[in-house]
Amino acid sequence: MTASSAPAAPTGLDAFIAGLPKAELHVHHVGSASPRIVAELAARHADSTVPADLDALAEYFTFRDFAHFIEVYLSVVDLIRDPADVRLLTYEIARDMARQNIRYAELTITPYSSVRRGIAAEAFMEAIEDARVAAEREFGTVLRWCFDIPGEAGLESAEVTTELALKHGPQGLVSFGLGGPEIGVPRPQFKPYFDRARAAGLHSVPHAGETTGPQTIWSALHDLGAERIGHGTSAVQDATLLEHLAEHRVPLEVCPTSNIATRAVPTLEEHPIRAMVDAGVLVTVNSDDPPMFGTDLNTEYAVAARLLGLDAAGIAQLAKNAVEASFMDDAAKKSLTAEIDAYVSVNA
Ligand SMILES: [Zn+2]
Repeated sequence: MTASSAPAAPTGLDAFIAGLPKAELHVHHVGSASPRIVAELAARHADSTVPADLDALAEYFTFRDFAHFIEVYLSVVDLIRDPADVRLLTYEIARDMARQNIRYAELTITPYSSVRRGIAAEAFMEAIEDARVAAEREFGTVLRWCFDIPGEAGLESAEVTTELALKHGPQGLVSFGLGGPEIGVPRPQFKPYFDRARAAGLHSVPHAGETTGPQTIWSALHDLGAERIGHGTSAVQDATLLEHLAEHRVPLEVCPTSNIATRAVPTLEEHPIRAMVDAGVLVTVNSDDPPMFGTDLNTEYAVAARLLGLDAAGIAQLAKNAVEASFMDDAAKKSLTAEIDAYVSVNA
């Protein structure tokens, strides 16, 4: 879980992955704050305990255990205090994405935390939208938003998140999610909020089956109208569920390194991604909270390629899966798929 070692120049499949045009569907806003971005935020707030120096930050981001990870995560949350912080974070995330040839990303944002902190809803929306437009123009990376309910904050947070999405929903908003712990936070209680979001045209993308069994995934499908499942790791414990996901083309947003970091899966070798693919489920590969888990999307593609025994064509298919599972319009899907094919014909 360290983020400090300098990467060697990529060769072979790693170089292929680095240049491959990609889409990312499961990645969190604050969870994408890299040491470089945190240093900039810390420099804006001198009273913060977070170091503003890059070397000290690399050390700070070396997690001793999960409790330490949460501590660091919350200290980064504490750095997002005003609309300028929100804008900086969002724009700089897009810069980090563009460096990995991520051409499109659905970024999961938890507006509840920021609004609770005292940032006005309008100012928050303006900040992310301003970053989105600038990022597309300057980096060529298209951002879309998923607003998610922090499940641990209860129904009040669900109400606020729904209101923010429906009354203040910015142009880039495409989906509605549910994060936080699954144990002790049953999905059905969120049905009325998802009903309202879906009626307003938002896609349903809750986390489910990351730390609990397949029943939570069934509940996400039946109660929340899930169109994609965040993680869905425990789906492999239920053959009927796998069959259902495959038949109805409900994609899974798989985040291998995150699953190890949070102990949802004991080791990478035991990761169920192979069983998901073998069952015919549409599998996408994602990074979740990349700098916090010492990873990035390119590394997750390399991990998936190793676990699935993929060659360049197989890796490109993963990228195409993400395009298919995304909420881009058909023209944008066609165009990014064509770009992936063109890259493969020259580089594979
Ligand atoms: Zn997540």
